[in-house]
This record gives sequence, C-alpha cells and structure tokens, in this order.
Amino acid sequence: MSDKFDVIVIGAGPGGYVAAIRAAQLGLKTACVEKWTGDSGKVVLGGTCLNVGCIPSKALLESSHKYEEAQHDFDLHGIQVKDVAMDVTKMLDRKNNIVKNLTGGIASLFKANGITSIHGNGKLLANKQVEVTDNNGKVTVYDAENVIIATGSRPAEIPPAPIGEHIVDSSGALDFETVPKRLGIIGAGVIGLELGSVWSRLGSEVVVLEAQDNFLASVDQQLAKDAMKQFTKQGLDIRLKARVTGTEVKRGVVKVTYSDSKGDHEVKVDKLIVAVGRAPVTDNLLASDSGVNLDERGFIYVNDLCQTNMPGVWAIGDVVRGPMLAHKASEEGIVVAERIAGQKAKVNYDCIPWVIYTHPEIAWVGKTEEQLKAEGEEYKVGTFPFAANGRAMAANATMGMVKIVAHKETDRILGVHIMGPQASEMIAQAVIAMEFGSSSEDLAMTVFAHPTLSEAVHEAALAVDGHAIHVAQRKKR
Ligand code: FAD
Ligand code: AMP
Repeated sequence: MSDKFDVIVIGAGPGGYVAAIRAAQLGLKTACVEKWTGDSGKVVLGGTCLNVGCIPSKALLESSHKYEEAQHDFDLHGIQVKDVAMDVTKMLDRKNNIVKNLTGGIASLFKANGITSIHGNGKLLANKQVEVTDNNGKVTVYDAENVIIATGSRPAEIPPAPIGEHIVDSSGALDFETVPKRLGIIGAGVIGLELGSVWSRLGSEVVVLEAQDNFLASVDQQLAKDAMKQFTKQGLDIRLKARVTGTEVKRGVVKVTYSDSKGDHEVKVDKLIVAVGRAPVTDNLLASDSGVNLDERGFIYVNDLCQTNMPGVWAIGDVVRGPMLAHKASEEGIVVAERIAGQKAKVNYDCIPWVIYTHPEIAWVGKTEEQLKAEGEEYKVGTFPFAANGRAMAANATMGMVKIVAHKETDRILGVHIMGPQASEMIAQAVIAMEFGSSSEDLAMTVFAHPTLSEAVHEAALAVDGHAIHVAQRKKR
C-alpha cells in the first residue's frame, strides 16, 4: 500500500510532535510515526521528554522538595508537623499519572489537528519513502514530499558500568520502588544532579563520581562554585576528577571502582545511576540508499536550517547537533514546518535558555564570562544576591544571585546567569530581553513589581553600571 503525505515526521518527542502539529496547522497533510509502545500495546507519544525525561523528573523533584520542606523548613514558619513520612509508591503513581495525562493529551492534539498517527519503527528509504514496521512485523511504505527525522536520543552507556538490575540509566532511576540506602551516580551533569537531588532528599546517601576537574564546566564558574558548596551542604558527596573504571555486582551490592590523581578507589552502593550523557538514536532508521549523512559524532548532519544533505529530508532535536533540550527540539520542529510551508523562520541558537532544576535552580542564557574571556571579548558585569531581595527573604530562599554580562562598549546583554529560587521562570525575562537585542540599561530602566524575585534581575542590570540600590557598590567615576 502507498499513501502520500506532504510531511512525515519520524519520532513523536517534543521535536517531532510539535513539528507535526505546526505542519498540520499550516494545512500540510501530515503523519507522525512513533515506535514507543505502552503496556496496553498502544502507541505512546511524547518521547523521552514526557515519558522518561523532563516531566517525570520534575514531578519527582517537586515531591521530594515538598518532603524536605516539611521535614526541615516548616518549623521555621511556626508550622508543626509530626511523623513526616514518604510513600514512594504514591509518589511514583502521581508521576505516572502526570505522564499518562500529558501523553494522552498529545494523542488528542493529533486527532484535533487531523494528523495521521502511525505506530511502528520508521525507516527512511530512497526518494523520501518511509517504511514502517509495526509490532507484528507488518511493513507498510509511505511516500512523502518532506520527511522530518526526530528520533531523539537515549542514555549513553559506558563499558565499566553495564545496565542491569542494580546499575540503571536515567529511566530506571525514575522508578526505584524503595529509597536506596546508598546511591552512586556516574556523571555530575544536569541529569545526574537532578536525580541525585531527588533520592538524596528522600534519604539516600549519594556519591557522585565525575571525571572532569571542573564542576558544571558549561555553567558560569562563580555560580558553579557556589552550587558545589550548596549541593555538598545538602548531602551530595561530589567527587571530581573521579573516572569510573569498573563495577561488580555481588549479592545486591555494587562495588564501583574509580581512579583519580591519588590512585584507585572503590565505593559500595545499593544502586548506581549511569548519567554520562545521551547518544543520538539512528539505528534501524536509514536505509543504505537513503543518502542521509551522519556527522563525525554519529548525529544526523544538518545545516543551520535543519536540512540534511538530501533535499526534502530534515532532522531536528536531540538527533542533531546542539543542546539536548526539549525546547530546542520543539523550536526546530516549528521552524522546519514553517520552512516547508514556504515561510522564512529561523532558530536563534544564541537565545536558548538552559536550566538545572536543583535547589536552588540554575538557569542561564547566552555566554558565560569564561567563554567571553576565551573569545577575547570586552565585557562588564553586574551581580545581585538574593540575600538582599525582600521576596527571597520572605520565601526563605536567599541562596544564589543574578549575574548580567554586557558588552563593554555597546552595553548589549551577552549573557544572564541565575542561581536561585525560580531561576527557571526568571530566565525567561532575560531570554526576551536578549531576543529583542536589549542593553543592560534597557533592563535597568524597566519597572519591576515589588516585592518580586525578578527585582534581582533589575538590580543586577543596575549593577552593570555600578548603581544597584539595595547593595553597597563602589562608586564609578
Ligand atoms: P525524544 O524526546 O527522544 O523523542 C524521540 C522519539 O522518537 C521517541 O519517542 C522514540 O521512541 C522515537 N523514535 C526513535 N526512533 C524511531 C524510529 N525509527 N521510528 C519511530 N519512532 C522512533 N530537556 C529539557 O529541556 N528540560 C528538562 O528539564 C529536561 N529534563 C530531562 C530529564 C531527563 C531524566 C532526561 C533523560 C532528559 C531531559 N531533558 C530535558 C532532555 C529532553 O528530554 C530531550 O532534549 C528531548 O526529549 C528531545 O526531544 P526529541 O523530540 O529530539 O527526542
Ligand atoms: P551530561 O553530558 O551533562 O549529562 O554529563 C555527563 C557527565 O558524565 C560529564 O560531566 C562527564 O564528564 C561524566 N562522565 C562520563 N564518563 C564518566 C566516567 N567514566 N566516570 C565519571 N564521570 C564520567
């Protein structure tokens, strides 16, 4: 059987499902192929993000944060609570229900937009044909004017720590049925720190082994150093320059061996999470005559407009270069759909926010001081601590600061770095400012409501030129 579509999207994660919806909105006859199968045997939409990524991790971060607050922070407000206990099964059920609601919501959106949802493994053949193999092995070939590959990524694996019952990847770490007494994590990246925070708050003794010397190397290093202190205070035992070299599982205990500058060491844990990054998914995706090239790291090769080397074949999200972030995948999906419809959309890769949902949260957009120094760019900096912000005090959340980095001559904002309460929400105002090419003075002249955490952004902008109000700054002449 052959059926022709204007657009066939392969993969229904935040890249693929958003691309499909936008293409359908633009009047294109659209299908989306997804291979993920739920317990009922039916297709599951939403990809990594909704099923085993952004959403379930944030659900657990929220639950574990509330548990910690009830134990340690309520007392400060005069609230007396006794016998605080965590029902892990209930916490996981809540998370699973959120996932179910959201993925079901995508299925409804597909219906409402007239998108054909096809269940099975999609493989690109020559001439923009897509071969779909369903769970029973039945093969159907569809023709398309345009194909958008959005097959995403999967957890990277390392030979010294093969995944099994006691050594798990990020997906396994979202489903521990009981709180592990001792938990090891390989990799102090975003995922390792978020999952480490969840289980540490619930009572695990957490050891994080990180091969690099610098903690959070891509984060502004002033913030990263402060974060290291805060996370250590919270109980995370983060060991840098610690490269894991082997593991052995015996009677339910994982012996992890690692080496650092002082030699070889071992640590014993009940569960070990491997969080060493993610790899693009391209297996069983490209027929040998599809003509689509991969790059040297195994990602699908694309240009700035997400075009592969084959006309009419596009690729977006985690399976291509750039940050592995859901909103980057979605934005690329929208832009590609609009390009297919003849519009001139473009992703502004300079204005993509990053967030680490620890406590406090860390969020940033644009360049760090370290990057600007390396590029030889002249810049000026304004900072403002949440310790001097009234709303942060009222919320008992005074850790961290806002830092604004602006061009020395033009004053154009080059980067904004926030560690503190609701940094994930506050960073949006920096993204908007940068998207509009704002100077730090533009932000400084903007009125911010009082009392809000956002006033720290305002004060940091004032501080760029040395006149923050609620903190003593040396007078500039
Ligand atoms: P994916 O979401 O991976 O979706 C790809 C889809 O394609 C999958 O459903 C897969 O089954 C399907 N597929 C693959 N091959 C085929 C094929 N041949 N045929 C048919 N279907 C196929 N990002 C954020 O921005 N914020 C966060 O807070 C965040 N938290 C995260 C937490 C965790 C624990 C993890 C693991 C990731 C997190 N991410 C976060 C990253 C985010 O999940 C990814 O960047 C995002 O999901 C990428 O979207 P995508 O559409 O490119 O790919
Ligand atoms: P991210 O890419 O942000 O998910 O972070 C993954 C982290 O895992 C990186 O900081 C890597 O340095 C770290 N990593 C990778 N391999 C190892 C290893 N064998 N031992 C310890 N850390 C590792």
